[in-house]
Amino acid sequence: MPIQTFRRAHRPLQQHAADWQPVPESTFDALRLSRDELEQLARSFRGRIVLPGMPEYDTDRVSNPLFDFHPVALLYCAVPGDVALALQLARHARLPFTCRSGGHSTAGFSVDDGLVIDVSLMRGIAIDRDRMEARVASGVNFGDLNAVLDTHRLHLPGGGCADVGIAGYMQGGGYGFTSREFGMNCDNVLGVTLMLADGSLVVADDRRNRDLFWAARGGTGNNFGVLLDVRYRLHALYEVWGFGLRWPLAGAPDALLLLQQAYMREGAPAALGFQAFLAESAGEPSLNVLGMFHGPRAEGLAAIAALRATGAPELTIDRVDTYARLNDGLLDQLTPPTGDVVEFKRSGYLASPLARADWQALVDAYRRAPSRFAMIGFEPYGAAIRTPPPGGNAFVHRDVDCDLFIDSFFDASGSPTSREAAQSWLDDTMALMRPFLNGHVYQNYPVRGLPGFRHAYWGAAFEPLLAVKRKYDPQDVFHFEQSLSPWPAGIERPGTAPLDAPAGAAEAIERVAPPPALHEVLSAGA
Ligand SMILES: Cc1cc2nc3c(=O)[nH]c(=O)nc-3n(C[C@H](O)[C@H](O)[C@H](O)COP(=O)(O)OP(=O)(O)OC[C@H]3O[C@@H](n4cnc5c(N)ncnc54)[C@H](O)[C@@H]3O)c2cc1C
Repeated sequence: MPIQTFRRAHRPLQQHAADWQPVPESTFDALRLSRDELEQLARSFRGRIVLPGMPEYDTDRVSNPLFDFHPVALLYCAVPGDVALALQLARHARLPFTCRSGGHSTAGFSVDDGLVIDVSLMRGIAIDRDRMEARVASGVNFGDLNAVLDTHRLHLPGGGCADVGIAGYMQGGGYGFTSREFGMNCDNVLGVTLMLADGSLVVADDRRNRDLFWAARGGTGNNFGVLLDVRYRLHALYEVWGFGLRWPLAGAPDALLLLQQAYMREGAPAALGFQAFLAESAGEPSLNVLGMFHGPRAEGLAAIAALRATGAPELTIDRVDTYARLNDGLLDQLTPPTGDVVEFKRSGYLASPLARADWQALVDAYRRAPSRFAMIGFEPYGAAIRTPPPGGNAFVHRDVDCDLFIDSFFDASGSPTSREAAQSWLDDTMALMRPFLNGHVYQNYPVRGLPGFRHAYWGAAFEPLLAVKRKYDPQDVFHFEQSLSPWPAGIERPGTAPLDAPAGAAEAIERVAPPPALHEVLSAGA
């Protein structure tokens, strides 16, 4: 079995007492460890421990004006044993924690004021060509994964950004240019390995811990355990035809009308994957459709012929290339935000038809955006996304036209009014679209403070997901603002009938390794 492995460590992993010199005493108090005890712990830890006062602390805690946390420690785990130690440390110090892989949670859910259990040093990728499978460690990002798959001319639906980590992306669904052909990233999962809060290891697949297998695909990260690796089914795909279409804004309403009518939930071939953006491109606000077709160029051109006949858009990209290169390059057509800008993001699923006048109103709203970097994006669903894999999974957003997202920007160093303007433009534009949205929200574009997030993210899967959560994390140790938890009193619950319990719900947890014995450094205070 050919195996290709990445293990990239950006900094020396071995640490010494001198590393803790600049760390304030309050940190040791919070960890309930002396400096000597921490050094002893670090000797067993294969990764790196970053604490306040250390030179990398401020960049590593990743903050922005919308979320600004000061973790007591960032624990870069290099092996599963490090994750077990990190979980023990959280228990010992009675600190909350959150998991982090690619660190791309747009709501900042992968950092908090307790511990950050970071898996980004765990970057192994094993490809089994004969079985068309890959086993991918949870710290792997799509830049590395696509590079490895490209060598083998194999494929997995992945995101548009090279730095997005598989752990957060997969557990929340995972949409990409080829999802219409191969489903969401989570639909391609054959099994997962997680470490539960007590440090025990579980494998969840179609034979073992089947309820957890169902829940881990769409149930959203940081809910059941620390995801360690994912086993994927791969597809044969290498070169695709890439295309780009650009309309001036005057042509956008007709094109958007046609896109919804004939290119989203139904109509277009599954081999056609694309995203549409009202955004600045080549210095002009415009409508851009960027995509790829898995098949000959001539068939791809035929698939988009009706679009090209609507308002005579410019063909900005027309090239056969590898998926990996096109995936990296297609979105470069759009003007990237520059300067010290901060993004507000909201999204919703479009599931009802808009008339031409409604599209015109949206285009007019886009013209009023307070920042030239503002973007209204459309991620078309349909085709393979409509059908969950056999046995189903917890990703519920299936029968929709597209995920609509709006990115609004303000200058971090600008006046408070510029932030208010960005927020109110976003609110007004979302309000304009509300009659056409189905009330659900893609959990990979989470919104802090969203009152109905349980229904919005999980719909009919919420109740069975909560049952899986109670079984695998009975102490609710994996806890954050939007983790799975009962509906609070006073919040109106939607009348959706819950899905049936997933297969395996009545079975006991099957562990492949029990919790490790308490490490002697931590045992005293545990
Ligand atoms: C620039 C950018 C581009 C994006 N493009 C796309 C796209 O094309 N398609 C798409 O579908 N989404 C996209 N997203 C959204 C992306 O899917 C989510 O932000 C996703 O959660 C990121 O995963 P991550 O591992 O990088 O993030 P993280 O912030 O590390 O994690 C996200 C969530 O998962 C949890 N988590 C992380 N690691 C683990 C673990 N090992 N075990 C348990 N829980 C864990 C975290 O606690 C957090 O709650 C994009 C986001 C950004 C910022």
